[in-house]
This record gives sequence, C-alpha cells and structure tokens, in this order.
Amino acid sequence: MDEPGHFAQGALVAVLTAEPVGRPLDYRAPEGGCFAGALVEVPLGPRRVLGVVWGTGKGDYDLTKLRTIIRVLDAAPLSGAMRAFLVRMGEYTLTPLSVMLRLATRAPGLGDPPGMRKLFRAGEAVPERMTDARARVLRVLGEHGGAGFALAELAALAGVGASVIKGLVASGAVIEAESPRDAPFARLDPALPGLVLAEDQAAAAAKLRAALRSGGYGTTLLQGVTGSGKTEVYLEAVAECLAAGRQALVLLPEIALTGAFLARVEARFAARPGEWHSGQTQAERRRLWRMAGAGGVQLVVGARSALFLPFRDLGLIVVDEEHDQSYKQEEGALYNARDMAVLRASLCDAQVVLASATPSLETWVNAEAGKYARIALASRFGVAELPEMRAIDLRAEAQEAGRWISPTLVGEVQARLDAGEQAMLFLNRRGYAPVTVCRACGHQIGCKHCDARLVEHRFLKRLMCHQCGETEPLPEACPACGAVGRLSAVGPGVERLAEEVAERFPAARLAVLSSDLFGSARALKAAIEGIAAGSADIIIGTQIVAKGHNFPLLTLVGVIDADLGLQGSDLRAAERTFQLMRQVAGRAGRAGRPGVALLQTHQPDHPVIRAILAGDEEEFWRAEAEGRRAAGVPPFGRMAGIILSGPDLAQVFDFGTELARRAAPLKRIGAELYGPAAAPIARVRGRHRVRLLVKADRAAPLQAALAEWLGQLKLPGQLRLSVDIDPQSFL
Ligand code: ADP
Ligand code: ZN
Repeated sequence: MDEPGHFAQGALVAVLTAEPVGRPLDYRAPEGGCFAGALVEVPLGPRRVLGVVWGTGKGDYDLTKLRTIIRVLDAAPLSGAMRAFLVRMGEYTLTPLSVMLRLATRAPGLGDPPGMRKLFRAGEAVPERMTDARARVLRVLGEHGGAGFALAELAALAGVGASVIKGLVASGAVIEAESPRDAPFARLDPALPGLVLAEDQAAAAAKLRAALRSGGYGTTLLQGVTGSGKTEVYLEAVAECLAAGRQALVLLPEIALTGAFLARVEARFAARPGEWHSGQTQAERRRLWRMAGAGGVQLVVGARSALFLPFRDLGLIVVDEEHDQSYKQEEGALYNARDMAVLRASLCDAQVVLASATPSLETWVNAEAGKYARIALASRFGVAELPEMRAIDLRAEAQEAGRWISPTLVGEVQARLDAGEQAMLFLNRRGYAPVTVCRACGHQIGCKHCDARLVEHRFLKRLMCHQCGETEPLPEACPACGAVGRLSAVGPGVERLAEEVAERFPAARLAVLSSDLFGSARALKAAIEGIAAGSADIIIGTQIVAKGHNFPLLTLVGVIDADLGLQGSDLRAAERTFQLMRQVAGRAGRAGRPGVALLQTHQPDHPVIRAILAGDEEEFWRAEAEGRRAAGVPPFGRMAGIILSGPDLAQVFDFGTELARRAAPLKRIGAELYGPAAAPIARVRGRHRVRLLVKADRAAPLQAALAEWLGQLKLPGQLRLSVDIDPQSFL
C-alpha cells in the first residue's frame, strides 16, 4: 500500500459483491490500483458484477487462479464509516453482508460513465392531436413535477412505445434535452435567518446547535405536541450542520409529507434539498446517490431507505415522527430505520434528532434513562390550542343498522359545515367492508391463497386480499352454497363510510384519503395539498391522514371506532392506539381555531381510552413502561421473531420443531423459546406460516446465540426463514 487505504496494481484485495456468496472474495487490484471502498466491476463465474473493495485480501484462494478487478467505477468510494455501518447493521439484524450491500447500492446505472444523456421532460405546448397514449405520457410527466426521464423509463411508466414520446417531442409538448447525468444540487444557504423563534423554540434550537458543534455522536428526543414548532427547531440543527460543511438527512415516514416539507426548506435555505423515495425517476435516483457520495448534495429528505445513501460526511439525521410504524421494514431485510439511524450516526460522529409528539416507548425509556437527551416543547406555536378530546359512548347512542356515525357526531359535523370549517372522519380500514358474508349459509368469503377474508373494494368493484393483493370480481352467487343475491357486506371501511356521509350531508364536498385509492404517491400528495387549501368540507381517511399534515380549516376530528386497535394481543396495542388517537386528534385546530376530537367507543372506561382523553402523556408512558418492565418485554427485554414458511404445512412445522429441539445455544444465554406455533395469519400466498419467538434479557448476546442456533440446520429448499429482531408485528 503506497498511501492509506490505497492498493497498488496487482495487490491482493477483498471485494464484496451483492451476490449470495456469503463473504468478500479475493481479487487483484487493477491497473492504477484502487482505494478501499471503491465501487468496482469484477468477474464472477461467467458474469461481471458490481462490488466494493472491502479491504486487504485474505490470501486463502489459489493465487494462480486469482482474477483481476475489471475496472473501478466512476463513483466516490464508500467511506469507512459507511462500510462499518453495513457490517454492524448486518450483524444486528442477522442480514447477510451481500444483502446489506444491495441495500446500499440501490441506484440505477452505477456503472455508466458520467457525461451527458438525453432526458425528456414536460414542455409548454399542447399537442394538436390528443390520444390516450399521449395523455398517459403527459400525466406521468405531470405527476413527477418537472423531473426528467430517460426514454425507456418514461415509455415503460406510461405504457407506450418510444414513437409516442417522439411524436410529442415533435409537437413541443415534450422537450428532449441533453442534460448532465449527475449535476450537483443547488447550494442551500445556512446563513439565511429562519423565522423568529418563540422562547422555548429558541432554547431548544440552541441545545441542538450546541450538540452539533460538539462534532461527535449524540441522540436527542425532540418532543412536542403536533404544531408546537418542532420542524422549525430541527431546521436550525440542519443549518448548524450545513454551516459546518457536513451533510444532513431528514427521514419522513410518508412521502405524501415531503411536498410541504420541501417548500419549508426552500423558504428557509433558498434552495431545494435532494429527495429520495419511490416516486423519484431513475435519473434522479442515480444523481442523488452519486451526489451523496461526492458531497454534491447538502440535505436529503427521504423515506427510510435514504439511510443507505453513501453520504460523504453525514453530520445529522433527523427522524421525524420517530414513533411511526412505517420506519420498520417488514419485507426482505427486516430493520427499524429509527434504530439504524442511531447506529449509523454513532459510527460517523453525527447527531440524531428523534422528533415526535408521541414518542415510541423505546425512545421514551432511553430518554428517561439518560441515554438520549430530551427537549420538550410544551405548547403549540402561537395561538393554536391542542384540541379538546371527548368520548362518544356508543352504548348510549341509538344507531341504525349499517350506519356508523352516531347522532352526536352527525350534529358536530353539521355544525362545522355551517361554520365553513372542515371535519375529518377517521377509520383505519381500507375498502368498503371488511367482511362479505352469505345471508343464506353464513359463509364468509376468504382468499384462496391466504388465511384472510377478502375485503370488498366497491370503487374497484372487486374483492381484495390485503395479505397478498389478489383480487377477484364480486360474485353473484355464494361460492359455498350457490345462493344468488344473498351476499352482504358486514362492517365499515372508508368507502362505506363515504357512502353514509354522502347520504347524510348531500351538499358537502367529500374527500376520501386511503392509500389504495391513489395511483401514485404524487397524486396522493396533490390531494392532500388540495385539502389543505380548502377543496373539501369533509375528509374521510385511514391512517395516512394521521401523519403530520397541516389542514388549517380543520376543527373537528371524529374517530369512528376508537376500539379498533385495542383488540388482539399485540404488546404494543395500547401504545399504538394512544399514539394514533393523539396524532389524529392533533390534525384539528392547528391554525388558531379551536379543535375538538371525538372518539366513538364502546368502552369509554378502558384505561387506554381514559389516558387518551385525560391527555396526561407522561402518566401514560410511565404506566405502560411499568407494565412492560414487569412482563420483561421490550424495551426491557429483547425479542426476536422467527418466521418459517413453505408450501407444505407438515414440513414447515417439522422444521420448526427440530429447531426447538436444538435450542441449547439459546438456553445458554438464558433465553426462552416459544413455539413453533401457527402464525396468526397462518397462510399467505399459498405458503403456510409458522412462528417461533425468542425472549431474552436486555443484556444477553442475542444475535450471536441466534446465529449459532440457526446455523445448526440447513434450510430445506422449499422453506423460507426470516429473523425479525425487535419485531413490531406478530402476525
Ligand atoms: P411541528 O413540527 O411540531 O408539528 P411545525 O414546526 O410544523 O410544528 O409548526 C407548526 C406551524 O407553526 C407551522 O405552520 C409553522 O410554520 C408555524 N411556526 C412554527 N414556529 C414558528 C415561528 N417561530 N414563527 C412563525 N411560525 C412558526
Ligand atoms: Zn391472499
């Protein structure tokens, strides 16, 4: 090695690839040498694959057969901190390193050379002749607000041939231009003044700025009711970070929130940050990935996977709405982006800000224990007041069959309509009705592939399985007894609620917000912006309305079924209901008009419902923490879920039983093993699911024991096994 981290031509280096090889393989450094962390192309069998120079080679492979790195890609090398993060996260979540590398290189065209390329964007002109295909192209461009696409990507997204796009170019409706592949982002100016902060905001901002100036790692819980001005405060931390020349990352739970946030960043720093989420075009993704590594982007706003961008010098990670369940990745590599943000920051001397009105119990306990600093914003910014919260006791309200809005709630909604204000009705259930039952034989229609009932989606005129996504037309006759015209919907979903609202308030303008009703994230974003501007009188929504949106005209939130989340045995049922109810209620009364939140419930005396209404959050968390401590469950104990699945139930169970029989490595660390047992959702996509649960002491070396335990048996070909550390879902 001639300089630190550099390997001279011919030197033995270890290269990690995203292929399922299990470990880095030895190669020889190419002509000109290479740096540790460099992205390279290597031969693997007959193929050429992407890899990263991981370090010095092991030398355990026949030196005469050793192959040479084909070329070093034109991209910044992954930093040592980034590589350490991938290793540590892989160890924590028991995810193979190759899979970790795949997470970190999810950008298209990494091997392509820099330079210019042709991109297509929306033009000014209107084509003289409009066809369906042309309209689809223009719609895709419109939904991506000015972004540029490569020809093939645009054609695929719009479902048209390239000639349609070329035709639009000829008419001026689409512009084709040579664009640099990877231009740096516009500079944000951290020296610009922010808003004049209220006293508690200023104190909070000063603490965060001081933490940033320390230049080291630290995590702070920034707690404050919705509307207390947390965003304004953490933007001050961003300013401090950027002023120091380091990069900042803000994670948001919901891409529909980014629009409003981008506008605020632009107002504060006079330029837009980089965006990273599923709505980005391939060209944008590639550019952002490369600029993160090259230092050409100062601030990135993104979904959880933005955590794997190869930042050159990351100084701050903000996790907004840190309690949000969408930070947990439930497929493929299982991880919680909030926890992994803390890990990443600790490895690169960065600060973490966890912002929430209703922190997760994990975070609250860490703050109580002094592991995290804690800053509280006590009141709403300015004159806005937290809404008054009351229960509507459904046992005391006469309710017609097939109706879900109680007379009291109807009266309250009407009062808002009369006053020209908005009302929101919250029901956390997509579709028209959760169950379709035959009135003749009592049969409930279920999914053929899953242990789940089909949900009627009337807008789509289909039944849908919420597990596997399979849909089928609504049948005329009962599939079990053949009776015709006897199928009937049981229970409400948002679509059915919309029907009731339309009947009861025929003059009101109605908006239904449910993730499945929007073709794209951009369309959902546009709908939310429209509602904020006053385009609807009554908003009906699933949990997507609970998250951080600012609807200035909204003064009433009605929760149709506050008891919904309390059923079931999930250890976080109380915590989640508490958070969701407080979050939803927080939508009301944000702009100076007092808000009211009304919870329809059959159990107004349930301790969780009482805690929600009383509004004593500290008391709720204390009680909840005590309960968990007594039961030895997270965050006071550790858990890992093992999910086995396969086409043959007996085989899946046998394997689970065999694992249970060999639990000695778990016993040695004092861990308990439960199961195997059929999972609550016992079949998905035709695969039978069996769960085991491992419970251990907080200090026990759980990962090592799990690795030893699971390493004893080879997984039969048809079975799949996944390990979920700190599981959030037990389904
Ligand atoms: P949170 O993130 O806690 O929900 P926000 O930061 O979004 O709160 O603030 C709520 C509202 O109050 C926003 O519309 C924001 O622009 C406004 N706001 C917050 N702080 C200030 C301030 N110091 N001066 C003026 N407006 C503010
Ligand atoms: Zn299904």
